[in-house]
Amino acid sequence: MAKTVWILGAGASAGFGAPVMAGFIDKADDLRSSRPDGLDSAAFDVFFRARQGPLQQLHAKTVVDTEDVESIFGLVEMASLLNKLPGLDGGEIEELRSATRTVLVQTVEQLGTFELRGQQLLPPRSYAGLVAGYQQAVTRGQSEGHAFITFNYDVGLDFAIRWFGLDIDYGLVKPAARGVPLLKLHGSVNWRECTQCHAIVPLEVLNMLKTRPGAASAPASQVAFPAGPHLRTMSPHCPGDVLSPTAAIVPPSWNKTQYARTFSSVWARAAKELSEAREIIVAGYSMPESDSFFRDLLALSVAGPTRIRELHVVNPMQDIGERIMKLLGPELRNRFRPSVGNFENFVQQRYGDLLREKGF
Ligand SMILES: [Zn+2]
Repeated sequence: MAKTVWILGAGASAGFGAPVMAGFIDKADDLRSSRPDGLDSAAFDVFFRARQGPLQQLHAKTVVDTEDVESIFGLVEMASLLNKLPGLDGGEIEELRSATRTVLVQTVEQLGTFELRGQQLLPPRSYAGLVAGYQQAVTRGQSEGHAFITFNYDVGLDFAIRWFGLDIDYGLVKPAARGVPLLKLHGSVNWRECTQCHAIVPLEVLNMLKTRPGAASAPASQVAFPAGPHLRTMSPHCPGDVLSPTAAIVPPSWNKTQYARTFSSVWARAAKELSEAREIIVAGYSMPESDSFFRDLLALSVAGPTRIRELHVVNPMQDIGERIMKLLGPELRNRFRPSVGNFENFVQQRYGDLLREKGF
């Protein structure tokens, strides 16, 4: 067996609480009311005021879906580009743009919590399983190992990799860095962009998890770790780099060419890994009709001679498999293995023994 490439969507992080897009707005609204430690309440207020005001008015006239955070994120990015959103001036549009990013990032961070067992912080179980599988492949001398492509902003898998004592290769530099390939197509809560050269600078995830807000309060078994305060304390990348606490993330439904300057090395690396894969496993990704980016990336990556033997799609919903099947040519269609079920069970079946050995 050679290279396995995992493609992970929101459903893969749902197991440790990170929100999927359905119901995201309600969860963000709950946070706005409960105001946990570390929450940028002002940003949440800006976002929800706009949603009830100017965005609601747009919704009355067009098909802007104000229940869908991805829709809002994309719309606000467009408003910033055009400098136009009825009811808001230029400064307010920029404030809303920053607030929308903050709401996305902090909702993911506050809900996707890590388990504190005694003094030890544990990574999400399923992600630990993936890393255990990676480690086993390397130990067995399968030097090609595994690669992980994810749409998720959270650091659940990042933490799992570091927890196992391995390095992460985010695909941000060339030639490839040492470590486990973890290609985050939509960015990450622990990435920031240099304001001078637009390079992405990742924050070491273990540093981010070392201190936790509210540590003095009652012992919590599930802990949230906002990255924002840490991003602000990093060293400038270039002279003149103004440190921003806003994470480098890409709106999911947006025309991504605007982000090419910053993210192209990650996307190119993902395409390379896909083109060399023997086995592709798509888990927890709903492949929205609007995401032509991924459709095209997959199509181009596996065009030409491919080594793919198997393509698994793991999703609780049957129609996702059918949607992905439609994208495949006859050659890959024969290798297609839909699996109706959740990511946790799939990982358990594959790596349950390894997880038990590691104490999970
Ligand atoms: Zn720079």
